[in-house]
Amino acid sequence: AADKIDSIVSLSKRRGFVYPCSEIYGGQRAAWDYGPLGVEMKENLKRQWWRYMVTSREDVVGLDSSVILAPEVWVASGHVATFSDPLTECTSCHKRFRADHLEEAYEEKHGKPPVNGLAELNCPNCGNKGTFTEPKQFSGLLSTHLGPTQDSGSVAYLRPETAQGIFTNFGQVLQTSRKKPPFGIAQVGKSFRNEITPGNFIFRTREFEQMEMEFFVKPGEDEEWQQYWMDQRWNWYTGLGMREENMRWYEHPAEKLSHYSKRTADIEYRFRFGGSEWGELEGVANRTDYDLKAHSKASGTDLTFFDQEAGERWTPYVIEPAAGVGRAMLAFLLDAYIEDEAPNAKGVMEKRTVMRLDPRLSPVKVAVLPLSRNPQLSPKAKGLATDLRKNWNIEFDDAGAIGRRYRRQDEIGTPFCVTVDFDTLDDNAVTVRERDTMKQERVSLDQIQAYLGSRLLG
Ligand code: ATP
Repeated sequence: AADKIDSIVSLSKRRGFVYPCSEIYGGQRAAWDYGPLGVEMKENLKRQWWRYMVTSREDVVGLDSSVILAPEVWVASGHVATFSDPLTECTSCHKRFRADHLEEAYEEKHGKPPVNGLAELNCPNCGNKGTFTEPKQFSGLLSTHLGPTQDSGSVAYLRPETAQGIFTNFGQVLQTSRKKPPFGIAQVGKSFRNEITPGNFIFRTREFEQMEMEFFVKPGEDEEWQQYWMDQRWNWYTGLGMREENMRWYEHPAEKLSHYSKRTADIEYRFRFGGSEWGELEGVANRTDYDLKAHSKASGTDLTFFDQEAGERWTPYVIEPAAGVGRAMLAFLLDAYIEDEAPNAKGVMEKRTVMRLDPRLSPVKVAVLPLSRNPQLSPKAKGLATDLRKNWNIEFDDAGAIGRRYRRQDEIGTPFCVTVDFDTLDDNAVTVRERDTMKQERVSLDQIQAYLGSRLLG
């Protein structure tokens, strides 16, 4: 429900996952900064994606291209001409909306599109009906000027997708990596879009990070490969613990496909924003040979592939799984957030908040807690924390009652708490408490690295 999003927003701020940007100046609308826990989780997500998509495979390599490319790239790719959204304004409250989003929300609610288009819709802000202006196309490209002059000759665009840096480097990667289709090039990095209606926390921002992979295949094999990557991408989310009941596929209808796409299917997540239940998490598109052909033509550089076995030359088709880092993080947080009950110090059940994150995504892997702040326990626990830090992100906390310290770790999704108590001084063992089951186990200090290592994969 919407209140779950509110809980995540407030927990994020309170615990240091995500802060409002430039808050000391009153904030920059719809921009967010990732705090100490947020940046850890975001790095974990990107690492998991990179392993799954790149380093665990022999047919995918990585790339890190510039954010600002030659302006000609965006002309050739079609973005300058067509990367725009239909903007409408309510004539009564003057709030602006994306016309396509308004129609999609209507369709989700009523099960069919509005017959008379915008005329049939109520303004989500003021409630008035039929008050929308005729939509105008609004470019989604963010531009800047390079160099000392600010004329049209110095205009440059901040990339709205990482993909074009992959297409423009296709020939060089082909040569230097000695890969041949079917193979892929992956990239993680910032993209920028001049969104008309940013919002819903980190779901839609003007500056965001993408994880994209362009997989080059022989024309005719594209449909099978698209299905393959759709399955892979679904499995990546579920493999990291996302619940299938909160996921679904959405097929783009033919008339709404992007200019380059033959077929696009999105993985949607049940974000449950007020107004719409489902939101796009990632798109898996068949971009055909559109981009490589466009760049071959515009640049005069041959971006075809010579297939030695078949003795023929062709332009590869491209299957693109494109995900957003922030959206994935928000979905994993929402999916992991639960409230259950745990006994307090007196054995009375109390409400607790738990983030049941897969340990590979958890920002803190282990909390080391001396039972109490004490001249014997604290140094022992600090020494253990230092040891464990060689492998994992560790938190040391000796402030306050042990039960409250457990709760603090549960709330940020720390999978294990290791408690150093007075028995530790005699038996050289510690108590390991597991987050979800709250089961406690005594583990000897010389076994603790191995014990945690086998449970903290990745
Ligand atoms: P939407 O329809 O929500 O605007 P899109 O279809 O334009 O998204 P794509 O071009 O397919 O998005 O981009 C791939 C992925 O990048 C999206 O699935 C999403 O995870 C992420 N993404 C796109 N735009 C944004 C944004 N403004 N803020 C955060 N993430 C974004």
